Amino acid sequence: YPPERVRNFSIIAHVDHGKSTLADRLLELTGTIQKGHGQPQYLDKLQVERERGITVKAQTATMFYRHTTASLDSDAPRYLLNLIDTPGHVDFSYEVSRSLAACQGALLVVDAAQGVQAQTIANFYLAFESNLSIIPVINKIDQPTADPDNVKDQLKRLFDIDPSEALLTSAKTGKGLEQVLPAVIERIPSPPGKCDSPVRMLLLDSYYDEYKGVICHVAVVDGALRKGDKIASASTGRAYEVLDVGIMHPELTPTGVLYTGQVGYVISGMRSTKEARIGDTLHQAKSTVEPLPGFKPAKHMVFSGLYPADGSDFEALSHAIEKLTCNDASVSVTKETSNALGMGFRCGFLGLLHMDVFHQRLEQEYGAQVISTIPTVPYIFEYGDGSKVQVENPAALASNPGKRVVACWEPTVIATIIIPSEYVGPVIMLCSERRGEQLEYTFIDAQRALLKYRLPLKEIIVDFYNELKGITSGYATFDYEDSEYQQSDLVKMDILLNGQPVDAMATIVHNQKAQRVGRELVEKLKKFIESLSAMRKNVLAKCYGGDITRKKKLLEKQKEGKKRMKRVGSVDIPQEAFHELLKVS
Ligand code: GDP
Ligand code: MG
Repeated sequence: YPPERVRNFSIIAHVDHGKSTLADRLLELTGTIQKGHGQPQYLDKLQVERERGITVKAQTATMFYRHTTASLDSDAPRYLLNLIDTPGHVDFSYEVSRSLAACQGALLVVDAAQGVQAQTIANFYLAFESNLSIIPVINKIDQPTADPDNVKDQLKRLFDIDPSEALLTSAKTGKGLEQVLPAVIERIPSPPGKCDSPVRMLLLDSYYDEYKGVICHVAVVDGALRKGDKIASASTGRAYEVLDVGIMHPELTPTGVLYTGQVGYVISGMRSTKEARIGDTLHQAKSTVEPLPGFKPAKHMVFSGLYPADGSDFEALSHAIEKLTCNDASVSVTKETSNALGMGFRCGFLGLLHMDVFHQRLEQEYGAQVISTIPTVPYIFEYGDGSKVQVENPAALASNPGKRVVACWEPTVIATIIIPSEYVGPVIMLCSERRGEQLEYTFIDAQRALLKYRLPLKEIIVDFYNELKGITSGYATFDYEDSEYQQSDLVKMDILLNGQPVDAMATIVHNQKAQRVGRELVEKLKKFIESLSAMRKNVLAKCYGGDITRKKKLLEKQKEGKKRMKRVGSVDIPQEAFHELLKVS
């Protein structure tokens, strides 16, 4: 397949607007997967993705399609189409921009009843800024409340998209789907690239397979890649031999070669995914090539300490984290020690959902039990001597560092919120309570308003989204992009138990909120510790009887209870307390 017969595209949409279902239909239509066989949302491979119904990792599939609209005879040209399914949630926009780098076009899917939502806007701009051809697809037209004309108006108003460009589909009934692939072929340009240059490719993703070793997903920009070729990494200079190369059709399918413009996989004897840096350029060994632009490095917005739920499991947790980060290079990990929780790790995540997903994967895929500390954001503190530090762990900011803090900055985000107009009042209240600054207030149609706010990141990482959903009966959609740091009046808040600070409970809060947050935290903590001593008294009370086995059982039970506690000075803190405390601040 020469580049003229290749199309690389992705599907972008707000969560639940039907990306994955549309991807399934296209895979079926081209015979890539069997209709009605296998599971829906074929490309969502992880258990968390299936459980939560969200796409976390972008996936690629190659399809073959005979384009017959132009000429009806049977030798109509066949095309090779690479579909890259992307996550819709804001935390994973890193994955989205990565996938878009390998595409020349995108299907922008919008639910015909719900219309444009916060992530539709965010994803549109990601694609637009990458200069992709955008094909608007108004999906779910089978729904009784579908209003495609209204959606067309929104697309025109917000993105200046000509209403005649929109395709109307139902991924459920199949209506309109036959227009999709012809539009992909006709409206999306073929990949640029020089066929007769030495091979040069972009490393899109990598993961570790127990049997095959490191598998890299690549987009071949120039030249061709063949089995047996010698390739090198532009960032490390290390050379490898191509042991296997092929396409995802939809599983690994060896082809022996990938030509200019194609997307596929390479296995080259790399030992660890650390050698396969995402965004790196791989090229023909011993040739000098200009590295491809690559990607912006992942920015860690939320940090939290992860500790084994039982002190002795440190090795197991360490192992699990190492394995998982092999497949999720967007998490940063450093060792840390806490006097309350022992040895653990400080992890940086792209956002709160990313953090949740990481926890869930640790538990489900690696059986690790973890306690996590209150999530925090990277603050910047400046000392009297002019030095600045980034603080990712509040405990690390010593209460009396011998240096005087003269200024602090916190990261902010620009949030986009879309709501039915009747909820504007409460949402404005919520945003100002969270120290937000209004930047925009417009209407996207007769019923719905769009609000833009600058908000401190810290104010949205805990519970903002839930509260927003709560006060808008679930109608609000929300998205954010990171923005600059702003100076802020921040203080470190320690929690003392019997006069001793508990490092794992230290937080950094805004001065004006310190009182309230502190009270809430301490009250919760007190309740936990009281209910705990009540439980202990109970155990003792029941021990007065003479029954030895019963006594033994009770003592065992008490020991069990103890295991789940952390002793700080003279006070035991149940692990649940740490969990619960996360929900305050
Ligand atoms: P994603 O989050 O964008 O990947 O959305 P999914 O593909 O997971 O779809 C979300 C939900 O919408 C699922 O329950 C689908 O079955 C449903 N859905 C997808 N397309 C259609 C459609 O055209 N019509 C209707 N009625 N439901 C659809
Ligand atoms: Mg999906």
